[in-house]
Amino acid sequence: MTPPCCNGIVHFNHYSDEGAQLAAAVVNTRLDSPADIVALAAEHYLLLEHAPTDDDVAGLRRWRAALAGVVDAPTPEARIEALNRLLARGTAHPRISLHNGPPHVHFRPDDVPPERQFAAITAFGLAWFLTQRGLHRLARCAADDCTIAFADVTRNGRQRYCSPRCANRAAVRRHRARPSAP
Ligand SMILES: [Zn+2]
Ligand SMILES: [Zn+2]
Repeated sequence: MTPPCCNGIVHFNHYSDEGAQLAAAVVNTRLDSPADIVALAAEHYLLLEHAPTDDDVAGLRRWRAALAGVVDAPTPEARIEALNRLLARGTAHPRISLHNGPPHVHFRPDDVPPERQFAAITAFGLAWFLTQRGLHRLARCAADDCTIAFADVTRNGRQRYCSPRCANRAAVRRHRARPSAP
């Protein structure tokens, strides 16, 4: 498991996968209060530099809409455009930080509010992950009644459902839909 770090950059690959998975998690989260941001950060090993406020909730909800624009982009070209917009809006020039253990690279200044920490890590993480591992590796669940977004970090990159639960439910439905033998 990724060790705790301000933003998961212990190994660059972790930055990538973790950032993409965090991006999907933001899309799937209700974000009603600062406590939702605290929970999301804890689940994804993101050490927040400041306690989230209502402004962070509002900002992260806007950012969530931008992330959903990448998830729901209809073509690879549209996905790249949406990613470039995210990068322009969410990241600053790279910078080496010493604030938390060994020196490591951030794509934001030090000492920013949680909203900007989330923006930098999800924009860069998604862009890196999708360009390195395949632009198709971000999707919504293929189950009819599920819209959960996921980053496909599997080895073969053919994940279709958000969870084993949804995959099993879909298999049961396909089985029931089979014409019975005469
Ligand atoms: Zn850091
Ligand atoms: Zn699902």
